[in-house]
Amino acid sequence: MIVMGIESSCDETGVGIVRWDAAGTCELMADEVASSVDEHARYGGVVPEVASRAHLEAIVPTMRRALAAADIDRPDAVAVTIGPGLAGALLVGVAAAKAYAAAWGVPFYAVNHLGGHVAVDTLEHGPMPSCVALLVSGGHTHLLHVDDLSRPIAELGTTVDDAAGEAFDKVARLLGLGYPGGPALDDAAREGDPTAIAFPRGMTGPRDARYDFSFSGVKTAVARFVEARHRAGDPIPVADIAASFQESVADVLTMKAVRAATDVDVDTIVLGGGATANSRIRSLIERRCADQGLTLRIPKPRLCTDNGVMIAALGAHLVAGGAQPSALTAVTDPGLSVATSQVPG
Ligand code: ATP
Ligand code: MG
Ligand code: FE
Repeated sequence: MIVMGIESSCDETGVGIVRWDAAGTCELMADEVASSVDEHARYGGVVPEVASRAHLEAIVPTMRRALAAADIDRPDAVAVTIGPGLAGALLVGVAAAKAYAAAWGVPFYAVNHLGGHVAVDTLEHGPMPSCVALLVSGGHTHLLHVDDLSRPIAELGTTVDDAAGEAFDKVARLLGLGYPGGPALDDAAREGDPTAIAFPRGMTGPRDARYDFSFSGVKTAVARFVEARHRAGDPIPVADIAASFQESVADVLTMKAVRAATDVDVDTIVLGGGATANSRIRSLIERRCADQGLTLRIPKPRLCTDNGVMIAALGAHLVAGGAQPSALTAVTDPGLSVATSQVPG
């Protein structure tokens, strides 16, 4: 069975195609992504109107490229991100998915973006055991318990304020490192001392929720630190600030992921989302998983950021799990809960 996945929840227009066989193997046939990240750079963040317009321009050419790359006329099923995400951006992918599915006469599956970030890992590392997933991107920070990808996913925790990637972007901006700032901050941190400044670890007190996150405190602490230096006329130690901030974020994310895996008694942690490219998040989670005897699965960077393949992979799991197609009347849900893997319509 060949499944096409369409993704347009944020600033990437993605169309992916996978082939699923009865043994549960998921093989990649096409992975086409058009990003509008450069158009958002001058605003310092994703502008919803700009993203929607870019999706409109990119969706049909991206579909055509994916079909050509897979060398097929049409897939056996179409899956699309129905939420969570930006309302206008989601609408473009969903409208296209419905139109193509109806024209081709193939079933339509309206699926959850977050489940896709976990499902995509099966392409590289095989069937997914019961696991804890840590998703970190510009729009999301979630700790999930995934038992079966064709069933609803349980959310263990999420951020109460900024997403982790968003915090990286805001701190990078404060340090004059440009947008998107995550990669630049990661680079700057290489020259710095992660113990130079004791920035706070949000939500790690004894009365704080075990699996929730907060990054606005550390962001504000960085802003205050920079302001104080400015006032005193002292130079800004950019590398030390970057390394110390990064250490705070990586420490809390990885500590809580390992804690969750131990609590729910699974032996696998899966990472997803663009901020998993961060070198310190990677090295710390690797070490902590090794210390606890946990298996760590991280998709390659291209599949960690938003793409259509992840939606195709989740669609394939749902079809294989016996899910009924969604109705063509299914509507986008910008705030869709992770507990809903697929919207029936
Ligand atoms: P989503 O809808 O999944 O939230 P997004 O476009 O906001 O999508 P991604 O494209 O998955 O997020 O990832 C981009 C985010 O990851 C940005 O916030 C970026 O700064 C951050 N990021 C990328 N590389 C790194 C890095 N090396 N260190 C820290 N953050 C990074
Ligand atoms: Mg993006
Ligand atoms: Fe995403």
